[in-house]
Formats: sequence, structure tokens, C-alpha cells
Amino acid sequence: MALRLYNTLSRKKEIFKPLKDKKVGMYSCGPTVYHYTHIGNLRTFVFNDILRRTLKYLGFELKHVMNITDVGHLTSDADEGEDKMLLGAKREKKTVWDIAKYYTDAFMKDIELLNIETPEIIPKATDHIKEMIDIIKLIEKNGYAYVAGGNVYFDSSKFKSYIDLAKLNLEELEKHSRVEKDKNKKNHSDFVLWFTKSKFEDQEMKWDSPWGTGYPGWHIECSAMSSKYLGEQFDIHTGGIDLIPVHHTNEIAQSETAYGKSPWVKYWLHGEFIILGKDKMSKSKGDFLRLQSLIDKGYKPIVYRYFCLTANYRQQLHFSYEALDAARNAYEGLRSRVLELRKDDKKKDSDVEAKTKHETEFIDAVQDDINMPRALAVVFAVLKDDAISNKDKLGLLYDFDKVLGLGFEDFKEDKVVVSKEVKVLIEKREKARKLKDWASADKIRDEIKKLGYNIKDTQQGVKVEKI
Ligand SMILES: [Zn+2]
Repeated sequence: MALRLYNTLSRKKEIFKPLKDKKVGMYSCGPTVYHYTHIGNLRTFVFNDILRRTLKYLGFELKHVMNITDVGHLTSDADEGEDKMLLGAKREKKTVWDIAKYYTDAFMKDIELLNIETPEIIPKATDHIKEMIDIIKLIEKNGYAYVAGGNVYFDSSKFKSYIDLAKLNLEELEKHSRVEKDKNKKNHSDFVLWFTKSKFEDQEMKWDSPWGTGYPGWHIECSAMSSKYLGEQFDIHTGGIDLIPVHHTNEIAQSETAYGKSPWVKYWLHGEFIILGKDKMSKSKGDFLRLQSLIDKGYKPIVYRYFCLTANYRQQLHFSYEALDAARNAYEGLRSRVLELRKDDKKKDSDVEAKTKHETEFIDAVQDDINMPRALAVVFAVLKDDAISNKDKLGLLYDFDKVLGLGFEDFKEDKVVVSKEVKVLIEKREKARKLKDWASADKIRDEIKKLGYNIKDTQQGVKVEKI
């Protein structure tokens, strides 16, 4: 079977076939670095990571680009609202450049904690102003741009495929739009490519351009940077589903009119939201949870990665601490099984057929639009299968982990430091067990549990785990 991916363009699962042999060019919209990234956004980056790991696992040669937006993104994805970077700078009384650096570092730390691999290329928007100006010039030369009120606009009415990706109904959109009309725009869905007339007097980031000193619209950076590193046409573009109707629609319009090639990108993949209560998580509502918020509550960051794997990336995932606890239990269960398997050195042969069956099922799962719940089910099936030796079980799990990224090979015993009180109780319990006084031993175990520790009797002796 071949890799099948759900393409937003066709609203269907399609067999994945790169433009060039086994070489894959992939672009992911990265973070806007004006604030910490919330766990809802981090889910999208876990999804990107699973996709990139899957492609490599299946033998594709990958070049993955993820941008850092440090200019131009307004609080609305369309051209309305405040400048996000300026908003961060005002809030924290720092320069926009300091804000960008601080939150880029924070983001990179988060993705590292989630065991997300670093994309091959991570370009910053502010380092690519020249490329943005060049592509705007092409769009203008080809007749799809106009200047009004000092800004350069994209004329969406001239690009007939404008509605394709998001299946837009432009008349309906205009009717229901609540934002005040920009008088310079010829059509409701036109958007800014270059601003020279800033609404923000204290705009710090400005560059010279053929249209005057100013700064780029948000969407142009992705068209400019993706094509700089991946060519005028490439294989995969990813992002959160909220980017479909404006940002990605505008990216396609810009790139196809600049380069005259269609489709600009062959496969568009979008990750669903994390739902908190009834709403999607967003920064603007001030209800956002960071990865650090979970760490502060005692969760290992990798537990959040495991939680993300429990649902397909195209399904909404409901976040609650109960659900996160369930993920933690499952993850810790897996961890202790892997640690146990490592200790076993008994020689036993595996049933080759059984082993191959699990391998095939895992590959089928990842090839089925990177279906992680199915892939995890294979992991548990392997652990349960008596026809496979412990050594081979480990081998399979380590291999599967190239996609899952849960760090099976790096699992270590947690060093548990217990208080003197707990130590004394453990010794007391051991004495009771030697005397076969099971009632007392159980009572002491409950006491230890109340103090926050689980006691397990293993062949190697008593094991203490923090609850
Ligand atoms: Zn983008």
C-alpha cells in the first residue's frame, strides 16, 4: 500500500506522489512570535512532526521549511486589527526585536521538550524582505496588484481560482462580514501585499520598497520564503485549519499569479484544534494554556505529545485534565513495560510471521493519513503478543518510535527520592512480608500511598514510584 494523505484541495485522501522521485519539499506555517505558544498551536507542530517523521520513515528524502513570523501579522488574519508584534512590545515595554527573539527562543524550547524534530530550514520573515518585494513586483507585473491609498493590494477578482482551497462563497462572506470596509479595496477579499500607510504611528519595523517605506502584509512572507527554499512548485504545505480561508487562500493567490504555475502546492494538510470546554483555544480570549502550565502542574511535556497522538490530527481533540491524566497513565504504563523488557535477557525466538504482521500493521496505520491512534494500538498489540521475544518487542518499539517520537530508547528509571518516614515504612513492610504478615504489609502499603508513593514488588526487589 502507498502513503495516502487527506488533501484539503480535493477534500479526499489521495495517494502521495512527490513531484520529483522520492524527494519531498514541505512547508509549515510557523509561529508568530509575539507571545508564548499555547498548547492548541503546539498540537499543530506535533502534527507537522509526525508527518515529517512518517515521510522519512517511509524512505522519502525530506526538506522541511518552517517560518518564524516576526513582522506583519495583525490580530485578525485579514488586514484588520492591531499589529501582533507591536502589541507584544507595548505589553512588555520592550522593542519588537527583543520580543521576537524572546518568544522565538521560548517556542524552540517548547518544541524541543515535545521531541519535535527541527525542520531543515527555519527562515525568519525579517530576513526575507527582499524576497517579499521581489515576489510582489512579479504579481504587479503580471497584473494582479494595484496601489491604493499608499498600500499595494492583491486584486482577488482577477484570480479565478481564489475560492478553490476554502470553497469560499465570496458574496456570502461579504454579506456577513462584521469588519469595517477598507475603502481602498476594490473587492472585499482583496488583501494588502505591502503597507506604506501604517495605522500604527509607532511602527518600528520599516523597509524601503518601490512603493515607499513600509512593511509587508502577513501572507506574502510564506509565498516568498517557501519558494525561495523549495522552488516555484512543491509537494506539501501544512498549517492549522484556521489558516485555510484567508492565509492559505491568499498564499496560493500570490504564488500562482507570481509564477504562473498551478498547482503551486500539490498537497495541503491541515491540523484540527484543541477544544477547551466548548471553544477552540486562543490567545485573544486570554484562556490559553502553555506547555509550561502543564509542567507546573507536574506533567512531563512528552505526556502532552502522547495526548496529541491519541486522536487523528483531523479530529478535534478535547482537552481536560482528566483526559491528560489518562494519557499520562497510558504513557507511564508504556514506559514501565519498556523498562521491564530491557531487563529481560532470556533467550527466546520470535514467531517471524507474528513479527512481520505487526510491522505491516504499523506501516498500514502510518500510511493511512498518518493515523496515530491506529499506530499506538499496534504498539500495545506488540506488547501483549506472547509469540514475540522481549528483545524483538523492544526492537519493534524502537523502530516505531522513529514516527511516534515518544523517546522509547531514552527511557530511564525515575530516580525517586523518598523521605526518611517513607524509608522506615518500607523497611517495616519488608519485615512484615518476611513474617508473612500480609495484613500488616498491606496496611503499611496504604500508608505509603497516602504519602504519595506506590510500592511494587518485583523480582529485583521493592520498587518505589511517585504517584
Ligand atoms: Zn503561512
